[in-house]
Amino acid sequence: MLDKRKFYINGAWVLPEVAYDFDVINPSNEEKCATISFGAQADTDAAVAAAKNALDGWMATSVAHRIALLEKLADIYERRRQEMGEAISLEMGAPIDMAKSSQAGCGTQHLADAINTLKNFKFDRMLGSHAPNDRILMEPIGVVGLITPWNWPMNQIALKVAPALAAGCTMILKPSEIAPLSAYLFAEIMDEAGFPPGVFNMLNGDGPGVGTQLSGHTDVDMISFTGSTRAGILISKNAADTIKRVALELGGKGANVIFDDADENAVKRGVLHCMNNTGQSCNAPTRMLVQRDSYDRAVEIAAKVANNILVAPADRQGGHMGPVVSEVQYGKIQEMIETGIKEGARLVAGGLGRPEGLNRGYFVRPTVFADVNNEMAIAREEIFGPVLTIIPFEDEEDAIRISNDTVYGLTDYVQTQDKQKAARVARRLRAGMVEINGQSRGDGAPFGGYRQSGNGREGGVWGLDDFLEVKSVSGWEVS
Ligand code: NAD
Repeated sequence: MLDKRKFYINGAWVLPEVAYDFDVINPSNEEKCATISFGAQADTDAAVAAAKNALDGWMATSVAHRIALLEKLADIYERRRQEMGEAISLEMGAPIDMAKSSQAGCGTQHLADAINTLKNFKFDRMLGSHAPNDRILMEPIGVVGLITPWNWPMNQIALKVAPALAAGCTMILKPSEIAPLSAYLFAEIMDEAGFPPGVFNMLNGDGPGVGTQLSGHTDVDMISFTGSTRAGILISKNAADTIKRVALELGGKGANVIFDDADENAVKRGVLHCMNNTGQSCNAPTRMLVQRDSYDRAVEIAAKVANNILVAPADRQGGHMGPVVSEVQYGKIQEMIETGIKEGARLVAGGLGRPEGLNRGYFVRPTVFADVNNEMAIAREEIFGPVLTIIPFEDEEDAIRISNDTVYGLTDYVQTQDKQKAARVARRLRAGMVEINGQSRGDGAPFGGYRQSGNGREGGVWGLDDFLEVKSVSGWEVS
C-alpha cells in the first residue's frame, strides 16, 4: 500500500494539518492501492502563502534562467517517464503500454513545447511606429491555482505547470483526488529539478474542499481549470467575488462528419478514436455523423470494429482497452446506455454490464448505438465512456446544423476527399478545434473550446498568454 499523504509546500514534503484519509482505488481490481489525505483550509492557506512569498523572486528571474530550469525538469521527467506511466496506469486504468507511451508522453511533449515557446516569446513589445515611446509588457498574472482531472492526468498537469512556470507565475496544483499518484510523482520531479521553494506547491483535496478554497482565495490571482462543465460553472461563480481570471477547459461532444466520399478507413478510425482511453477524452469524436448513402455500411463496420476491441486489466501489455476510472463513472455510463436503449436507439455493439469473463473491475463493453437522433440524451450529454452514437445526415448543410446543435464546441472532425468541402465545413463548425481526415494537430497548436467547452487555450503561445497580464506603458525612454 502506497502512503501518499504528504503535500509539497514551500519546497518541502509536509503532513496535512488535520488528517483526512482518502483511498485511491485501482480500477482494474477495485482494490485500494494508495492512501492520500485531503487538505484543510490551513493547508491551502499555507500553500497559497508560499506561492505568494515566492512570486517577486520568481517573476524577476531571467528568461534564460527559467529555460535552464525547465530543461532540467524535462530531463528528469524523461528519466522517470516509465515510473510515470506506471503511476497513471495504476490510478486511472490506462493499459500499461499506452500509459507509458501516450499518457506519460504528453508530459514530455508539453514540457518541450513550453520551452520552445519561451525561447521565442517576446515579453516586451513595441506598440507600433506611430507611438515609439509606448511599450507593451507581458507580465505574469501572479499566484495561480491549477485544478486538473483524472482522464489524461499528466497531459493536463504539464499543459498548465510548464507555461505557468515559463510566464513567471507561482502556483498551487490540486490534482484529481481520484488520480493523484502521477501528480505526486510530478511534485518529486519538480523538487529534484530545484525550483525555488514556493514556486510550485501541490496539495490534494476534493472540489468542495481545496478546490473551492483555491477558487475563492483572495491571494490567488487566477484559476486554470480542466474538468467537467459542472465544476467549471461552480468555480467561475466562486471566483467572481475576487475577480479572478478563470481559464476553463471543459467537456465536449465532438461531431465526426463522414461524407460519402470519405476514405475507406474513416469509420474504423472514428470508432477507435472514440474508444481510445476507454472513451474518457474530452475531445473524443462521440457523435459519428454519416451521410445517408454510406450509412448502413458505416454502421456495419462500426459494430465490427467495436466488437473486436479487447477489454482487459491495465497491467496487461498490449493495445487493449482498460477499465473506466471509478465505480461512479461505471455507474454513470451504465445509466446512459440504459437511457439510449429506452430512447429507442439501435444497439449494434456492446450494451449493459461487463464484458464476458470480467466480473471485477470497472470494465465497460465497447458500445455502439445506431439510428440516433440529435435530440436524444445520448447525443447531447457527455457520456465519458466507450459509447459511440451514429447519426445519419442528408447533405453538407444538414451535417453542419447537427454538428453545431450542441452546448459544447471542443473538437469536431471532418472526413472527405474533397479538399474544398473539408475547408468549407471546417470554417463553419462552431468548435475550438477541427481535425480533417485523421490528421492530428501540430505541436504548439492551441487546445480549447467554444461555448460550454470552455474559454481557455492551452499549448504554444496561447498557453503562455493565458498566464500573462498585459501592461501598457507610455513615455518609455530606454531601449
Ligand atoms: P471534475 O470536474 O469532476 O473534476 C476535475 C477537477 O476539479 C478535480 O480535481 C476535482 O477535484 C475538481 N473539482 C470538482 N468540483 C470542483 C469545485 N466545485 N471547485 C473546484 N474544483 C472542483 O471532472 P473529472 O471527472 O475529473 O474529469 C472529466 C471531465 O473533464 C470531463 O467533463 C472532460 O470532458 C473534462 N476534460 C476536459 C478537457 C479539456 O481540455 N477541455 C481535458 C480533459 C478533461
